[in-house]
Amino acid sequence: MDLHRDAIVADGHNDLLMLVARRPKEVWPAYFRERWIPQLRDGGIDVQVLPVFIDSEFQPEGALRETLRMIEAAHRIAAANSDQVALCTAPGDIGTATAAGKIALVLALEGCPQIDTDVELLQTLHRLGVRMVSFTHFGRSALGDGSGEDATGGRLTHAGVEAVGLLEELGVLIDVSHVGRAGVEHILELATKPVVASHSSAFALRDHHRNLTDEQLRGIAATGGVVCVNFFAGFLTTAEKPTVDHLADHILHILDVAGEDNVGLGSDFVAEVFAEKRDVSAGEAYRAQEVGAQITARFRVRHTALVADLSPRDRLTIAGRVYNITAVRETQRNRWIEVDAVARPDIAVIAASA
Ligand SMILES: [Zn+2]
Repeated sequence: MDLHRDAIVADGHNDLLMLVARRPKEVWPAYFRERWIPQLRDGGIDVQVLPVFIDSEFQPEGALRETLRMIEAAHRIAAANSDQVALCTAPGDIGTATAAGKIALVLALEGCPQIDTDVELLQTLHRLGVRMVSFTHFGRSALGDGSGEDATGGRLTHAGVEAVGLLEELGVLIDVSHVGRAGVEHILELATKPVVASHSSAFALRDHHRNLTDEQLRGIAATGGVVCVNFFAGFLTTAEKPTVDHLADHILHILDVAGEDNVGLGSDFVAEVFAEKRDVSAGEAYRAQEVGAQITARFRVRHTALVADLSPRDRLTIAGRVYNITAVRETQRNRWIEVDAVARPDIAVIAASA
């Protein structure tokens, strides 16, 4: 438990911004303060990536407008709660925020439906604070094919290739989570800077298309990047009753394959999103899996390096190079991952720590 006190814990993916933006703008700051800051504090999160994920109900026409609303929401919740959080956009910002006891927030794009082939808009979004970008969701985007379309064998499009160059030039992290098998390979061929997976787990332990093969894990590590393990139980195991050990197994596997400097955490907590969308058709099966499988974990890890600003070249590096898991793996798993009971009747409690 004490390990946690010193840790800088970064979460590469939490969809809470969707829930903020679904509310009237007048309540954004207060909702974030009352609903989310306590949860982030309780979970020991020091750095939180806020993905801008555009729900299908806004696509395609409303995608850019909703993107701007979500980015505006991020700026407003940060400005109005500046005693607790800071939106980080420049080298040094994360270090400054965490040193002051604030939660560092980092804006990201998930899927890129809002730009189509207008890659130059990534520069606009960079100006608005976006510092990490993934090219697809499950399906096809104008930049490449998502992992749900692996059967196409699709690599990046011309626009996708152009995006890699522009993002590297801007110092924006490229996130391969959700990108299909061939697309990940393509990105790794092109990348000259660290590439991350903001919320992906290990294919060797669970053969889901959203997970990364050992070869991909090694490829990401070779760029100096980080793989942030996804907690979503459907990506961890097919077991009927997933436990936190399944999550631990993925962390340890990625640690073994990619190296201890290359493992991070990407919770992908979306149960509340699905809960709020109960009347919206979002796929019953997926929702059932999600609701039944949500894991809330507190991480008891010790940090060994800084989260941010690893080098000026990286501009802003998040979520990883942090967890000295090897130091505690010999002792007791449950010392560094503690599962909290979830106080929601519709979400199963997965496991209790020993
Ligand atoms: Zn995702």
